[in-house]
Amino acid sequence: MLARGSTIGILGGGQLGRMMAMSSAQLGYRTIGFAPEGDNVSGPLNDDFVTAAWDDTDALAAFAARCDVVTWEFENVPVDTARAIPHDKIFPDPHALETAQDRLNEKRFVESLGGRPAAYAKVDSSHDLIAAVDRLGAPGILKTRRDGYDGKGQWRIGSSRDAEGLRLPDAPCIYEGFVEFDAEFSVILVRSREGEIRFWDSTRNVHEGGILAASHYPAGNQITAQTDAARTLARKVADALKYVGVLTLEFFATHEGPIFNEMAPRVHNSGHWTIEGAATSQFENHIRAVAGLPLGDTRTIAPSIEMRNIIGSDIDDAYSFLSGSAYHLHDYGKAEASEGRKMGHVTRLQHNTRG
Ligand code: AMP
Repeated sequence: MLARGSTIGILGGGQLGRMMAMSSAQLGYRTIGFAPEGDNVSGPLNDDFVTAAWDDTDALAAFAARCDVVTWEFENVPVDTARAIPHDKIFPDPHALETAQDRLNEKRFVESLGGRPAAYAKVDSSHDLIAAVDRLGAPGILKTRRDGYDGKGQWRIGSSRDAEGLRLPDAPCIYEGFVEFDAEFSVILVRSREGEIRFWDSTRNVHEGGILAASHYPAGNQITAQTDAARTLARKVADALKYVGVLTLEFFATHEGPIFNEMAPRVHNSGHWTIEGAATSQFENHIRAVAGLPLGDTRTIAPSIEMRNIIGSDIDDAYSFLSGSAYHLHDYGKAEASEGRKMGHVTRLQHNTRG
């Protein structure tokens, strides 16, 4: 267990790191962020911030020496960067990053544990893509295997003709059959150093243009009926990776049960509602897990919750939500809005009212 005043290193400088830093401070820990030059919004919330390239081994060694444990808030931290931190100091194990950073590996790994992803094929050439569309049919989605998030690195393929006309990106890809889903949901869990696992309730997640727009609780009967099967898979994934911290698996709810979409070895946007809506937030429990503290209660504490992202637009207008006492605003401190950029989020909690 980390003693009071210990230092937690956080690889990455985004809003997830910012919210982790707040939970760390609450628990009496100091934080040091580490990320390359860029728009690092967690900096002001960390006790210190190191700006250095991911492959700057000297800077990484100096950073690791100042930290008691290290974790990450960004799933595209290079595996070699995570491996440069002494193995007994970094949680989760960098193997989780390695598994999740390549969509092909990730799907094969999840299948080996009994999970069901969308039909997929490896695509390294135009010829592979045409063959994949012939075999799996269209519509489908071509995705780069690496570095994709928020719908980036994805192309919708409506027909074989689309496949023939497309200039492939200069990166290994995967073609996925389009899943005719009824809804989307995620399973978010926390696993302690001792292997104890707790789940938060699943929300119904609504995406717009490949980006999460909102999460709703309760998620509805169809998702609730599929949560057990999805949790069983998520538990197997977490145990197989000897995972420590918060892990997220995203699913499509279909008539044939849950179809695995992807996993994120980190706290997740679809868990932001837990800050006000659960007895212990995903951020607090992630820090508790990596610090070796007992896990907090993950129970939902309001009957109806909605989290909505503020994407690509000025956050100033969102302050007007605060005239309603059920609303909570989170500003990520980003100077300028641009298309697709997550600027903050608003959570609305509906409490039981008397009378
Ligand atoms: P991803 O980054 O792979 O999670 O994709 C972002 C979003 O695109 C998902 O949450 C879905 O809304 C949509 N999407 C991705 N893959 C598929 C698929 N195979 N079938 C249907 N929709 C998909």
